[in-house]
Amino acid sequence: MSENPQPSHAEAPTADKDRAQGDPPFRNISYCVRCCMPETNEGNAFDDFGICMACRSSEQKMRINWQDRQQALAELLDKAKAESGNNYDCVVPISGGKDSAFQLHILVKIFGMTPLAVTFSHNWFTETGRYNLENILERLNVDHMMYTPKRGLVDKLARKSLPMIGDACWHCHAGVWSYPFHVAAKFGISLIIYGESPAEFSGRTTYWDQELPDKKDFVKVGLKESM
Ligand SMILES: [Zn+2]
Repeated sequence: MSENPQPSHAEAPTADKDRAQGDPPFRNISYCVRCCMPETNEGNAFDDFGICMACRSSEQKMRINWQDRQQALAELLDKAKAESGNNYDCVVPISGGKDSAFQLHILVKIFGMTPLAVTFSHNWFTETGRYNLENILERLNVDHMMYTPKRGLVDKLARKSLPMIGDACWHCHAGVWSYPFHVAAKFGISLIIYGESPAEFSGRTTYWDQELPDKKDFVKVGLKESM
């Protein structure tokens, strides 16, 4: 198993204009032989067969005993409910996208939780994105807190973010992985449930790995310490 280094800006690849139909766009970059995910996807790694970890995680899902997992989740949520008293049972970071909206639905409708939904706004919501967020909160009747950094700061960070880490949204990553913790600590809520699994899109973890991320992981992944 090898972690593939990100290409430096000095040797950034250029698209091969002479490539034949079906060839990858960049010959000097490796791609997953199954799903075509490039090595430049942050945290990506390939096994000896050239298959990425997200594809391997996808296979694991077919062999997991989901009844056991549901039972374990129910026990964890029951414990949180028993300990929360009159407080919220958990914090749910939510963007309004499919992952966090679905988990909020499951927590409220299936498990009867009383969550506090928390949003770090990147201040780049589309009209549809804003509607989706407000719609799920209204439909599930959930309390909500949102923090929105000022436009001038977002613009400034985005300009630095692109050349430094390769995408314009450093403030999104940092905010999504810090603001919900800030709220949970402030209100004494001991459980935070994220809707996004790194097993789905990177090699950082798998569905077999049940270790909870520690502070170091959150800093490395969320705040891009490694970049
Ligand atoms: Zn793949």
